[in-house]
Amino acid sequence: MDKDKDKNKNEKKSDKKVWLIIAIIAIILITAGIITFLLLNKNDEKDENTLAYTDLIKEISYGNIEKVEMTVGSTTVKVKIKNEEEEKTAIVPDTESFVTLIQEKVADGNEIELIQNPRSFLAQFASVIVSLLPTIIMVALFVMIFKMQGLGEKGKVYDETERKTQIKFDDVAGLDEEKQEMIEIVDFLKRPEKFAKMGARVPKGVLLYGKPGTGKTLIAKAIAGEANVPFISMSGSEFIEMFAGLGASRVRKLFEKARKLAPCIVFIDEIDAIGSRRTTNSGAESENNQTLNQLLVEMDGFGSEETIIVLAATNRPEMLDKALLRPGRFDRQITIPTPDLKGRLEILKIHSKEKKLSDEINLESIAEDTAGFTGAELANILNEAAIIATINKHDEIENSDIEEAVKKVTVGLEKRTRKYSDKDKRLTAYHEAGHAVVSRYLPTQTDVKEISIIPRGVAGGYTMYKSDDDKYYISKTEMKEKLIALLGGRAAEKLVLDDISTGASNDIEVATGIARDMVTKYGMSDVLGPIDFQGKEPYEIQMFGEDIGDKIGAEVKVLIDEAYKSAIDLLIAHRDKLDLIAETLIKQEKINEVQFNEMFGK
Ligand code: ADP
Ligand code: MG
Ligand code: ZN
Repeated sequence: MDKDKDKNKNEKKSDKKVWLIIAIIAIILITAGIITFLLLNKNDEKDENTLAYTDLIKEISYGNIEKVEMTVGSTTVKVKIKNEEEEKTAIVPDTESFVTLIQEKVADGNEIELIQNPRSFLAQFASVIVSLLPTIIMVALFVMIFKMQGLGEKGKVYDETERKTQIKFDDVAGLDEEKQEMIEIVDFLKRPEKFAKMGARVPKGVLLYGKPGTGKTLIAKAIAGEANVPFISMSGSEFIEMFAGLGASRVRKLFEKARKLAPCIVFIDEIDAIGSRRTTNSGAESENNQTLNQLLVEMDGFGSEETIIVLAATNRPEMLDKALLRPGRFDRQITIPTPDLKGRLEILKIHSKEKKLSDEINLESIAEDTAGFTGAELANILNEAAIIATINKHDEIENSDIEEAVKKVTVGLEKRTRKYSDKDKRLTAYHEAGHAVVSRYLPTQTDVKEISIIPRGVAGGYTMYKSDDDKYYISKTEMKEKLIALLGGRAAEKLVLDDISTGASNDIEVATGIARDMVTKYGMSDVLGPIDFQGKEPYEIQMFGEDIGDKIGAEVKVLIDEAYKSAIDLLIAHRDKLDLIAETLIKQEKINEVQFNEMFGK
């Protein structure tokens, strides 16, 4: 999500240029059109004074025409017919042959006065423009294409993202410890001599690890803002969207620019796009290798006399080429976590500053309910709430607006108009009831907050749970129970309808991911033991045995199979509750926390 946002910013800027060019072309076109129309056809009055071309020819052949007046290039002519007071206007399809016709008549002895007015300057100008239009459009298009690909002026692309930012550390909520590390970098950018005198080797590169939306870009900008130095940014994916060979030259230009602007910050977003492990393959990957090599060359190239700090962000640290992490390159790594309770509260405070919140709103309780949410999601919730409040014609943002916004951000927009067949409705009801009933009997799973079978976003229905406390560690039992809860939907479909649907695909995807992590990352498989298999090259994994891949697969399957069986067993044991909840959902589409607990006699 956040990736798109960053990209949009850059795109918007080059978009502006493109639109400017389009607008200029449009203005030229329209003006030329209007001028041509007005000047060449100014005699074209649509009244009784117009004469059809066939009538004009008739009058000419009868010898009734006294005078013909026309402007060169115009197809509108004025004619004076004998014995008629007023002059008439006619449109001739082809002026040249018309003039020839008149001249022949004159030669035959007809007394026709032929007046050919020269074109006015404006009309000439207009016609020149009109004749040049195709060329102008072609040239403009070429310019646009070249600009968009950054081939135009040297380094043009980077100018768009280079500027001093106004963002300060105060705009970054939470992340207190991380900020502490950043202050050091700001200090270095401000007073490099101080460090040099001490003989300190200053950091060149800092890698920010963290999920999308945790504030990596924000923090990078804040560093530049605090140090009051230019911020030059570029996204890794932009480097590889280029024609072959261009990625490397872009990197070179980026650093050329940075040297000129030093001291400055170079920010490379999504560095995994160029910095993933180098391979020996050809095609796109070797293109990628060239780009990465160039980046390494540049980072090794600038010395202590240039105060450039390269910040890079990624959410896939395991993908990165180890060469990037060597001393003198990105030798500092900072993990940006998803915010804890205090962090969430601070983020909510920052982003509610400009919003009209009702007094009933308690930011603390929103913070409590949003464990696991990123800063971007929290900012988004407040923004959505403001939109929803506006649509609902509330004077201020109310609790109900916030609740709706949370659902919109997490599950998507409610789609009441989407029509369900009765069969689909029953299936969705049982699927969601399956999740809810199963998790009810799993001690580690949080309580159900709401179940709904009103479609929202891409989901047919959803079961919302109360937010978890902030946890640093998750136990194996908890992960296993999470798998059971996830597979509860599919289990209910199988049990009740004796058929299964595609509706469980997301649950299955998430469950498989968790099971894989349990085996390959958290060492939770007794068969494989506490070994990290993730992000390893095949040869590194084979170190543990030729068939290690098979063993990993088998262990993942055991976890999933066990969880699925547990889900089925739980549902068989509590079939009455499953039916009750599903039937209630079919009737009223939603069940809230209170109702749900009542059904279990609480
Ligand atoms: P990332 O680069 O890690 O994907 P961004 O820095 O682009 O995340 O964050 C997106 C938006 O989310 C920011 O512009 C800001 O509005 C909000 N945000 C994220 N983290 C924070 C934070 N710690 N404090 C305040 N706002 C935040
Ligand atoms: Mg970002
Ligand atoms: Zn489900």
